[in-house]
Amino acid sequence: MRSDKRKDDEFRSVKIKLNVVKSALGSCYFEMGKTAVIAATYGPQDVKPKHLEDAEKGIIMCNYNMLPFSVEGDRKRPGYDRRSVEISKVVKESLEPAIFLEEYAKYLINIDMQILQADAGTRVVAINAAALALACAGISMRDIVSAVAVGRANGKILVDLTKEEEDAEDAIDTPIAIMPKFGEITLLQMDGIASVDDMKKIIKQGEAACQKIAELQRNALKNGIHSI
Ligand code: UDP
Repeated sequence: MRSDKRKDDEFRSVKIKLNVVKSALGSCYFEMGKTAVIAATYGPQDVKPKHLEDAEKGIIMCNYNMLPFSVEGDRKRPGYDRRSVEISKVVKESLEPAIFLEEYAKYLINIDMQILQADAGTRVVAINAAALALACAGISMRDIVSAVAVGRANGKILVDLTKEEEDAEDAIDTPIAIMPKFGEITLLQMDGIASVDDMKKIIKQGEAACQKIAELQRNALKNGIHSI
C-alpha cells in the first residue's frame, strides 16, 4: 500500500487553471498532488541577441526555476543551478516536437516555469503546465505534450512517485513525456538501475498514465478559460 493509498498505476490528483498570469499571452497553473507549477509563455517576439535568430524556424527558450519556499525542510538557495539548467533543456526538447516551429521563423517564444511546491515530479508537471500555456497562447501545435514520472520503489513499479517513494533504496525514477495523439515519446530520462523488463513496464505504464493526463489537459482547454 502506498502511503497516500493510491493504486500502483494511479497518479496524484490533478488541478488545472488556465490563464492565471494577466501579463502573459498564455499561462497555466498545474498541480499534481503536492507538486505545483505555474507556466507562462511570452511571444512570438523578436530574437535578442539577433545572431541567435533562425531564418528557418522559431526558437523556444525555457526557464525552469524552483522557488526557495517550494521544498520541504531547508529553504532552496534562490536562483539557477546545474539542475535547473538541465531541466530547462530537457523541458524545451520535450515540447519542441509538438510545436510548428516553421511557422515562427525568426521569432522567439519564451516559456517560464516556476515551481511553487515540490514533492517530486516537478519537471513533468512543468511540461504539462507549459504545454497548456502554449495552447492558451494560441501557438500552433501538432499535439499537446503530456508527462508523468514512473519508477520503482520498494520492489514495485509505481506511477507518479512522491519524494518519499523516490528516496527508497531501490528507487528508479523515469520521467516520460509523450505526444499522446501520435504515441511518440519526447522525453525519457532515468535515474537508477533498471532491468530491460522493468524499463518495458515503466514505459508502458508511463504511456497509459500520459494518455489519461492528456484527457485532463484537453478537458481543461475545452471547458474554456478559467482564472484564479
Ligand atoms: N528537491 C529538493 N531540493 C532541490 C531539488 C530537488 O528538495 O534542490 C526535491 C523536490 O521535491 C523534487 C525532488 O527532490 O521534486 C526530485 O527532484 P528531481 O531532481 O528528481 O526532479 P523532479 O522529480 O522534481 O523532476
